[in-house]
Amino acid sequence: MDRAADALGRARQIALACHINPDPDAIGSMLGLAGYLAARGKDVVCSWGNEPFEIPRWMSVLDGRGFVVKPKEFPQAPEIMVALDTAAPERLGMLGANAAKAAEVVVIDHHRTNPGFGSIVVLDPAASSTAELVYRLTERMGGELPDQAAACLYAGVVTDTGRFQYESTTPETLRVAAELRRHGFDHARMAQVLFEDSPLAYLRVAAGALHRLELVPEASLVWTYLTQQDLERARATMADTDDLIDVVRTAREADVAAVFKQQRDGKFKVSMRSRGDHDVSKIAADRGGGGHRLAAGYTAKSSVEESVADLVRALEASKAA
Ligand code: 5GP
Ligand code: MN
Repeated sequence: MDRAADALGRARQIALACHINPDPDAIGSMLGLAGYLAARGKDVVCSWGNEPFEIPRWMSVLDGRGFVVKPKEFPQAPEIMVALDTAAPERLGMLGANAAKAAEVVVIDHHRTNPGFGSIVVLDPAASSTAELVYRLTERMGGELPDQAAACLYAGVVTDTGRFQYESTTPETLRVAAELRRHGFDHARMAQVLFEDSPLAYLRVAAGALHRLELVPEASLVWTYLTQQDLERARATMADTDDLIDVVRTAREADVAAVFKQQRDGKFKVSMRSRGDHDVSKIAADRGGGGHRLAAGYTAKSSVEESVADLVRALEASKAA
């Protein structure tokens, strides 16, 4: 943390990136840090490595759009690059090449599967969110945190804790959230945009996915899937479906919930959640993905049927272990 504070304090130009298909903790921690650094007179630029590059709808409640550039406009060989909420270099997508050429790479993250890539690593798997870590870093560096930057960090904390629900919510998390809430921003409107803003198209896709929910009692698994065709029929986008896993995980009958979501390239991205009896980060990491003990993901190598069978075997093995 001290080395990160020192390096960022000395730099003039800072390039910030977060993981591909960013969630509010990725973008919130990135824009929050960018807003804080800009207020200290730094020249900042932000991006993430998706092509095509799309701005998520909920970003409308986060100030800092002005810092964001397309990945192609991101500095090729930054003097200092910060990777936020990024569990592995691959999660930088096309910005991985920029990180490889950066003189210094500061990694700020809370994923337990992060191998600690980068030249300065601020990694705390016990932290609720990357935004919580960024807030602690700004306290360490001192000076003023602009209201808009505080709002971005709050968005990261409130989403990654499941609105202060998950086990990662510590007294320290609530202290950070309380400090952030002192700033001037409309948290109730933010919560509406973050949590209660589904297009009908998504609700219809979710209805279809819930209709074909399957329970595998011997693995304590409940699962479903979504195809590109489902999305096309309902005119929904994959980004609309981030919250589907949060509905599936409420199934009382299973400890583990999984949603298999077909990407544009045809491969299925797997989202997993556990109520507490399984370490899904380990299952994900064994399959080239990663995440947290109770929330993790990976990209499946085969069909849904084969991937479910593989997941069932992994869950049964982890029970036996
Ligand atoms: P979600 O299911 O919401 O996409 O992801 C749950 C958690 O697992 C997030 O913290 C996310 O960063 C992590 N995760 C999801 N997919 C991958 C992946 O392919 N690789 C890694 N390293 N982490 C992932
Ligand atoms: Mn996060």
